[in-house]
Amino acid sequence: MTASAPPPVTAVRSPENWRPDSWRAHAAAQQPSYPDRAALEEALATLAQLPPLVTSWEIMALKQQLADAAAGRRFLLQGGDCAESFGDCRSDRVADRLKILLQMSLVLVHGLEIPVVRVGRFAGQYAKPRSTDTETRDGQTLPSYRGDIVNGVAFDAAARQPDPRRLIQAHSRSALTLNFVRALIDGGFADLHHPEYWDLAWVQHSPLADEYHRLVESIGQSVRFMETLVGKQIGALNRAEFYISHEALLLDYEQALTREVPRQWGWFNLATHFPWIGMRTADLDGAHVEYFRGIRNPVAVKIGPSVTPDQLMRLVERLDPDNEPGRLTLIHRMGAAAIADKLPPLLRAVRASGRTVLWSCDPMHGNTESVAGGIKTRRFDNIRAELERAFDLHAEAGTRLGGVHLEMTGDNVTECMGGARDLSEADLQRAYRSTVDPRLNYEQSLELAMLIVRKRRQ
Ligand code: PEP
Ligand code: MN
Repeated sequence: MTASAPPPVTAVRSPENWRPDSWRAHAAAQQPSYPDRAALEEALATLAQLPPLVTSWEIMALKQQLADAAAGRRFLLQGGDCAESFGDCRSDRVADRLKILLQMSLVLVHGLEIPVVRVGRFAGQYAKPRSTDTETRDGQTLPSYRGDIVNGVAFDAAARQPDPRRLIQAHSRSALTLNFVRALIDGGFADLHHPEYWDLAWVQHSPLADEYHRLVESIGQSVRFMETLVGKQIGALNRAEFYISHEALLLDYEQALTREVPRQWGWFNLATHFPWIGMRTADLDGAHVEYFRGIRNPVAVKIGPSVTPDQLMRLVERLDPDNEPGRLTLIHRMGAAAIADKLPPLLRAVRASGRTVLWSCDPMHGNTESVAGGIKTRRFDNIRAELERAFDLHAEAGTRLGGVHLEMTGDNVTECMGGARDLSEADLQRAYRSTVDPRLNYEQSLELAMLIVRKRRQ
């Protein structure tokens, strides 16, 4: 299929030689080992009967939006926690996360003058890849924490035992989270006439408050002006489309939520709109790539610094053999120090193939470091440097950076250093809540959105 004649987004079917369980014949990295197989089978059978979280229509609508983003007509904003925890399934946390994503998208829409595809990294982001299977503390060795869908974070033998009942709990928490997000949006929470709904309590004291409020005021003026012109409220401004995503790591869970939708040409993962493959499970012949190749969702893959152009092109061919618009997003996560070296050959290879993918930048995962006491952090300056370099490198290669992938929260946490308030190493003690990777706090997230606008306008 040539790039000049891509198929319409609905015309591609799940492959004939694929089934939701065909991944089982491949090596599956990063899976827990459940001591009680019977309990696992029982939980999976229950899951397979439960209603899905999303529908194929929503998924196809998102695929179209991602196709638009790949063509330069939209910008993808994807963000949320590194890992959700069951304890964070609370109304304030969910609403705050939605607020910051809406604020950032407002900044981006206004500054870039194109619509934003809003994708939360939540309502299912419960499984984590780990660098080692076990963790040793004070002479005791236990299984690593693999996210709340698998085991508990507390360092004791009972909590660290993988428990299949957590699969059902993760499905329920995801449904509760998504239900609340849908209700907020349907109720007008995302209404552009009322961006003040999204103000978080402490924003008024932020160094960025003035710039943000000036922007809100100018959008308010434009909305009022347009509505005066057309003589009525513009309905489309009352609602925002919102999608969910997670790393589809735990293949037992993903398979149980994979359903056949005959009129939509095949199988869909209905646990989320937009699953991605993490860097540690992107092996061409591994189980994750096998599972992903057959589902009809738009899919993303994290691309790290060790990937060669040849490996990348084989991955692209395997996951998107039809060069289908909106199907494939490549999220590069190189690190500020490596991006100038590692990214350009990949951009050139994809460009030379004549294929269209959506390129997104994750400026978080290549910039993680440990400071005194083993605390994991990221420096805002490195995050910013990687993102700015990414825009430049795409421009030089004749490709286009069409999105960002961020670990962020609406809370006033102190997990990443730097930013408008210049958080220091000492500040990390104050409000460090992540159980895994450090997130941008509310203010740092907004700052990054403003920075993207400045960069794109250069
Ligand atoms: C993540 O997104 O939390 C993650 C583990 O990223 P990566 O697969 O890019 O390391
Ligand atoms: Mn992470």
